[in-house]
Amino acid sequence: MNLNRTPSAAFISVVLPVYNELQALPILVERISSTLDAGHWRFEIVFVNDGSTDGSTQELAHLSQAHDFVRIVSFSRNFGHQAAVQAGMMAAQGDAIILMDSDLQDDPHALTDFLAAWQQDFDIVYAVRTKRKEHACKRFLFDSFYRILNAISSVRIPVDAGNFSLLDRRVVETINALPERDRYFPGLRSWAGFRQTGIEVERCARYDDVPRVSLLGLFRLAKTAMFSFSNVPLTMFYAIGGLSFCVSLILAGFALYHKLITGDAIPGWTSTTIVVSLFGAINSLGIAILGEYAARIYDQVRARPNYIVDEIASQNIRTLPTPAENSAAVTQLLEWLQKNQEQTHKGDPSQSMSS
Ligand code: UDP
Ligand code: MG
Repeated sequence: MNLNRTPSAAFISVVLPVYNELQALPILVERISSTLDAGHWRFEIVFVNDGSTDGSTQELAHLSQAHDFVRIVSFSRNFGHQAAVQAGMMAAQGDAIILMDSDLQDDPHALTDFLAAWQQDFDIVYAVRTKRKEHACKRFLFDSFYRILNAISSVRIPVDAGNFSLLDRRVVETINALPERDRYFPGLRSWAGFRQTGIEVERCARYDDVPRVSLLGLFRLAKTAMFSFSNVPLTMFYAIGGLSFCVSLILAGFALYHKLITGDAIPGWTSTTIVVSLFGAINSLGIAILGEYAARIYDQVRARPNYIVDEIASQNIRTLPTPAENSAAVTQLLEWLQKNQEQTHKGDPSQSMSS
């Protein structure tokens, strides 16, 4: 057991984005605090008020006056779910940060299991949703999205794992430091690495049946997920280009055969077929090459680090030389080279630097 991850040593943050969730707020505070109190954890609950207009703002002010563990970050207007999650992660002060929605779909009782897994040294614990209590059509769309994303993404993003998760402080700092604007949080969480585990958690029904993220919003998020974690939409054009090139060669052969051998070709047909099919293939390959540049620029602008160090371990850590030590070593090398040259001129090349 990691001693820094015990109730007496650790501080926990629970981050919740809020957009017009008036009725759920007192219930959430009561359920989260009783769950964490039962485990004797010290904690804060950080609500990010994403421009609510239904009285949630007043209710949050009331809750923060009633409980010293309630903190509020308020946006100037509605900026969207992912932005609220990002702001909450920035504001949270805990050694472990738990992200959950405030529509009572994420069961606060799962926090106990999250924390138990964190104590067993997992840095990321995410909920794998079982029994989604949602409309069949929405469930089908979610299922398709997760499966397609899983098949094409360059990092393995677990199926049916949304934002509901616990992250160790260093994971949060890694993700917070990314300059990336267009964020798909579950993807970034998988990309971060460290020790991750999934826990099955039943997805409850929304308390009021009115989703705050519209279908269009979910579609945009799906696009963000696919484009920021996969190059397949781009590399597809290589395949399309290659295929059209092969088809154009076959067509050209066919058209030339009829033009030159059988004489069945209608005037103009041969040249039209060759030009159209060949230029179609060249266009696709051109798009693929342009896309390659765009993808590289996107990668550079997104500026995800090339690697994240987990730990550096060694029995005998060698410190790097200081600039002064470095220049002393260079002077020594130059002196040796000069001496070696003089010896060579005198016909004695047997000197070595170590001598
Ligand atoms: N939310 C938000 N800003 C928005 C839309 C939603 O902060 O513009 C919050 C909302 O209050 C909830 C969470 O994001 O806590 C998830 O929203 P919703 O339940 O509509 O998403 P779904 O569960 O359908 O993905
Ligand atoms: Mg919801």
